[in-house]
Amino acid sequence: MIEQRLKSAVRDVLDFPKPGIVFKDITPILKDPQLCEAVVECMAEPLDANTIDMVAGIESRGFLFGPMLAQRLGKPFVPIRKAGKLPYTTVREEYALEYGCATIEIHSDAFAPGSRVLVHDDLLATGGTVAATSRLIRRLGGSVAGYTFIISLDFLNGRACLADFSPIIHSLIGYD
Ligand code: AMP
Repeated sequence: MIEQRLKSAVRDVLDFPKPGIVFKDITPILKDPQLCEAVVECMAEPLDANTIDMVAGIESRGFLFGPMLAQRLGKPFVPIRKAGKLPYTTVREEYALEYGCATIEIHSDAFAPGSRVLVHDDLLATGGTVAATSRLIRRLGGSVAGYTFIISLDFLNGRACLADFSPIIHSLIGYD
């Protein structure tokens, strides 16, 4: 079972990056090539590649499995990055964090209008990051083809802010 293998591999780091947070560290997965292959396979399995034109991954841990998933689906990969990192012209969105706010960007020519973009990140928490990503995709004339995560922290109810964009929300493991 992928769930059991993943739950054993993911490492809880207490009080990182600040007191009270239990950080889900996915780096042990990367040390197991067979588990990496299973992760990509299981993420791709419920998806219909005919409904997806691109895969977007979110900096930085969305860059670990996002390109592998895109390659597995035979689709282009597009990076969503923190402000000031992308070299060409960009479109940006701000979103609220627990304290303060953050900004993410996408290249203005990342995909053609009308593209259906699958959004990938390692972990869904409150949903703020992927909701801002979804707004970027819409602003470039695209639509969200769905979401795929390795982990969802279901007690934070992040799925609620994604329902407006797509009902297709997959996660390999969840924590209630
Ligand atoms: P959110 O916007 O609240 O859904 O936060 C999701 C983003 O923050 C993802 O890019 C995650 O990598 C990161 N993140 C939030 N909480 C955690 C956590 N407990 N463990 C690891 N990463 C987290």
